[in-house]
Amino acid sequence: MLDPTAIPPVPAHVDRPVILSYGLGVDSTAILLRWLSEPASRDFPLSHLTVVVAHTGDEWANTGALVTEHILPRLRAAGVRLVQVARRGPSLARDGVVVLDDSRAPRTLYSQGTYKLSDEMFAAGTVPQTGGTRICSIHAKGEPNDLVIAHLVGSRPYRHVLGFESGECRRADKDRTYDTDQRHGEYPLITWKWDRADCLERIFAETGQWWPKSACSFCPFSLSNQEGRARTLERFTTEPEPACLALRMEHTATALNPRQGLLPTARLIDLARGFPSMGATLERFAAQVADAEHALYRVRRVWPPKREAPARAGRAARAVEIMATGSRGRMRAQLAATAFEHTVQVDMSDADHPRAWVQRRSSVAGPGAEEFYTTAPATARHKVGRTFPRAWADQAQQALF
Ligand code: SF4
Repeated sequence: MLDPTAIPPVPAHVDRPVILSYGLGVDSTAILLRWLSEPASRDFPLSHLTVVVAHTGDEWANTGALVTEHILPRLRAAGVRLVQVARRGPSLARDGVVVLDDSRAPRTLYSQGTYKLSDEMFAAGTVPQTGGTRICSIHAKGEPNDLVIAHLVGSRPYRHVLGFESGECRRADKDRTYDTDQRHGEYPLITWKWDRADCLERIFAETGQWWPKSACSFCPFSLSNQEGRARTLERFTTEPEPACLALRMEHTATALNPRQGLLPTARLIDLARGFPSMGATLERFAAQVADAEHALYRVRRVWPPKREAPARAGRAARAVEIMATGSRGRMRAQLAATAFEHTVQVDMSDADHPRAWVQRRSSVAGPGAEEFYTTAPATARHKVGRTFPRAWADQAQQALF
């Protein structure tokens, strides 16, 4: 494993390096295969091309296996440089990235990464967020890519190639706003007028494989519509461990926040329970949870008034505190004792998560606060948000009036 500064920049004689951000999925695989097998499809020699992969650490195993079987040998045969990077920790500024491999003869795909996106989610006790921009993707893929590209090209102008399909002109337009005097975004699939079906067919013609969608196995975007849910559950039946990982991630997230399911308005666990083929996986997941060290968590959340519209809730601040750790049985007993101290009952209305509610939010859209105790596998770290103490004190003050 190398620091990015330890890898050689693109040779000085290459005055406009071509960098392909390779996501392992259908779109960028189609570009790569066409460039490799059809020289007339590109206006640069392959020696000017660097393929960069930023690993989240949570890619489906079968995608990794297909890349290893069909793409790495072709890159080796053509002598194309492949640089594989991953995050070293949760903060790019503090932890940086690591170069897992830099080779013109790549033999191994390091898709397990180092610090995985799932490590970050478990530590935060949450799931990737679907509102607004894909922050998880920016942190796990975009930023490590950018950091390594900056080192590879130095101050030279470069061509940054992305796999947006012919129907994704709006994404390309948005990406163009990141162009500078140095960086020039390029989208060959749009130029070639290739949509997803064209990409799939081209890949099939070259490899004999219907290429799967690349994603983290727990990606909530893959679960956002019926087709994606069916596809994901089918993959779960052949890859039970990623299924258990997704279920465990959601389990802790929903313990700490009942609204944090992996589906837009529901939980993956409830979807899985409806599929008989998930039976063995659900048993495996249940056993993993039962054996895990648990924590008794105190969770407080406050929604301060929005500055420009005080009747509406602003951005929530959260405190997650670990009160004790031990077996699930011990933590459930401690939860009961804590409920007794607060003169409340343990609420069992959420079948997966008993809670002792000390305070419930009075309105769903307005400012407010909630506080409860619950038990969950002890993966989430003790964390009091920076803005929390002040916001919590302010709401307590307001509640007196
Ligand atoms: S695949 Fe999904 S979960 Fe993974 S980084 Fe991309 S958007 Fe986030």
